[in-house]
Amino acid sequence: MISDVLAKMQAAAENPQALKERYLAEGRKIVLTAPVYTPAEIIHSMGLVPMGAWGGDTQLNAAKKYYPAFLCAIIQSITELGMRGVYDGVSAILVPSLCDSLKVLGENWKYAVPEIPFIPMTYPQNRKPEYALDFTVAGYRRVIRDLEQITGSSFSEERLKESMALYNEHNALMRQVSAELAAHPEITAAERSAIFKSAWFLCREEHCGLCRELLDELKNSSAGTEKKIPVAVTGILADAPGLLKILDENGLQIVADDVAAESRQYRTDSVIGEDALYSLARKFSARNCCSVLYDPEKKRVEALVKTAKAAGARGVLMILTKFCDPEEFDYPLIRRACTAAGLPFVSIETDRQMENHEQAATIIETFRDMMED
Ligand code: SF4
Repeated sequence: MISDVLAKMQAAAENPQALKERYLAEGRKIVLTAPVYTPAEIIHSMGLVPMGAWGGDTQLNAAKKYYPAFLCAIIQSITELGMRGVYDGVSAILVPSLCDSLKVLGENWKYAVPEIPFIPMTYPQNRKPEYALDFTVAGYRRVIRDLEQITGSSFSEERLKESMALYNEHNALMRQVSAELAAHPEITAAERSAIFKSAWFLCREEHCGLCRELLDELKNSSAGTEKKIPVAVTGILADAPGLLKILDENGLQIVADDVAAESRQYRTDSVIGEDALYSLARKFSARNCCSVLYDPEKKRVEALVKTAKAAGARGVLMILTKFCDPEEFDYPLIRRACTAAGLPFVSIETDRQMENHEQAATIIETFRDMMED
């Protein structure tokens, strides 16, 4: 039954702590991966379990010692959870250098949570030229060296190719799931979020299995008759339970997303060639349409409009993570492009401590009315 698969995904999304304990009890070593793009395939190929660390909805206390109040709450909450011992038992945290806040996270982590080693992944700003591939591969080699030293695991190019093939398979499954969900208005925004969020915590083999089960169930069940308003969502994160509840209460269905923690992860596959590390670097270089990736042409904006229209969305909701510079730069462009394309557009600012959702509820009600007109 669909509900059985969803329940497993929801359990993983809501309680990654239990999964962490399970993997540790099985004798497996865990490496945390910070937003937005990390070479998780390398971690997986070395027999380690990559687990996403995107922070959590929590009050910030101890982390305030390390950051100004205007730093994005994802970074602050990752540190807060680390200082509180939530990640105890993991072997390391891998932090990519994709925005200024992430650079600050790595440096502060060394002092705030010294018991969990910090591994940097330094990406080139300009990722397309051939010389950028050399730079990215040098970053991977540093990651491998650190992982070998910290965990005692070894690296092999052949195993990396196998992991890349598995990650490609998972990408394809997630794209199929996302497309299939658009035809199932009975799946709530909260359930959709759990499908994507659980992928950060469950090991790839397990999540692939659940996705296959879910796809079978969705294809064999008739779509609900509920009439909902199809919308597209963009932003870094879209997992705040209070906000998802408002979307569900207002009868909005997410039919497509351009969310960094969701579909942006699964758009680009590895083309596996002779040299595994260069193939992985080419995957990073081929990524596009994301606020943290250098793009003077801002192709993300038009791509979002195109995706929203292709999925039949009647409006675009931008969930803006507070103090996220990369997304704030794109906000006026997205707003203008949606308006020009005749797509009602609203934005809601969120952080990881959002308790009062009254303003968000008012915005969503207005958004619904705009689309009903
Ligand atoms: S939310 Fe924005 S500022 Fe924060 S880590 Fe992600 S990209 Fe960087």
